[in-house]
Amino acid sequence: MPNSFDPDQTIRPEILALSAYHVPPATGMIKLDAMENPYALPPALQDEIAKLTAHAPINRYPDPSAVELKVTLREALAVPDGMDIMLGNGSDEIIQIIAMAAAKPDAVLMSVEPAFVMFRMIATFANMSYVGVPLNNDFSIDLDAILAGIEKHKPAVIFLAYPNNPTGNLFDADAILRIIEASPGIVVVDEAYHAFADASLIDKLTQHPNLLLMRTLSKLGLAGLRLGILIGRPEWLIQLEKLRLPYNVGIMTQLIAKAVLRHPELLLEQAAAIKTERSTMNKRLAAMDGVEVFHSDANFILLRVNGAKQIFQTLKQRGILIKNLDGTHPLLEECLRVTVGTIDENAQFCYAFHDIIKNH
Ligand SMILES: *Cc1c(COP(=O)(O)O)cnc(C)c1O
Repeated sequence: MPNSFDPDQTIRPEILALSAYHVPPATGMIKLDAMENPYALPPALQDEIAKLTAHAPINRYPDPSAVELKVTLREALAVPDGMDIMLGNGSDEIIQIIAMAAAKPDAVLMSVEPAFVMFRMIATFANMSYVGVPLNNDFSIDLDAILAGIEKHKPAVIFLAYPNNPTGNLFDADAILRIIEASPGIVVVDEAYHAFADASLIDKLTQHPNLLLMRTLSKLGLAGLRLGILIGRPEWLIQLEKLRLPYNVGIMTQLIAKAVLRHPELLLEQAAAIKTERSTMNKRLAAMDGVEVFHSDANFILLRVNGAKQIFQTLKQRGILIKNLDGTHPLLEECLRVTVGTIDENAQFCYAFHDIIKNH
């Protein structure tokens, strides 16, 4: 018997080849890298949550179907009649459930590039082939290329984020509808940034039998709870529910999400404040020489500047963490992504950024 085992003998080669999703340490930093909502909940609601959690029956398993939370969500999200809800431990888990369910041998998961990196990573986790169709230079959808890709690869699943991450733009809704109509499989529209955009395809669910719509509470101010939401026809959700682990949404998440969503206006007011700050920041950044700012319908801004990587490093040394996208995709050359934070955080970022680029 060998006294040491070689993981290379057991682990799938495509997993050995992956690098783990990297989350940089951020203790003590101004954290503008992960699209979190920077605001806390009002003290009265914090107290209500403290009481709820103090008395929560944590010796018991949570409600596996989260019945009460779903009632609250149905109302808060205005889920269309006839559509069901499936909950995930974040929408990342929902992406994984969909991929596992569709992963027949040789099945293809398709998205655009650049897109949310988890689409590609999870395709690999689930043993699916991934096809990423490049966006146009202005980050719009290349409809002809996607339609050709659909024809060629017959993807089991297509993921499109609306608005898109990391580019921040909304794709043309008619182009998405054409993709849905041409697709032989499921099209999942990922509306993680819905609160910051003035558009949604939720109304299209009833007309398109292969459309599923995903939301999350993460970008809305509850990233720590881990709650993702899939909305779609019962025919699909009955199948996907079979792969959902029974207690994937814990009791604390269920209790707290219910309590917060009883005041949906709270999170929406915070989202409105973030949108206002987004336009202030946009103007400030666009006025800086040598900075290209891309329009955003999300809670972050994509920009292009010469020497992005070094500017990112210098910002980090100064205690400000954003995301460097240079080198991740040809369309993102010299690009940085900054999350919209509090007024004060944004001012500190803009000041430091300007200071760095004018000496660069
Ligand atoms: C952040 C993000 C998510 C992740 O959401 P969780 O619910 O926190 O897992 C999903 N999709 C997109 C496009 C995102 O940017």
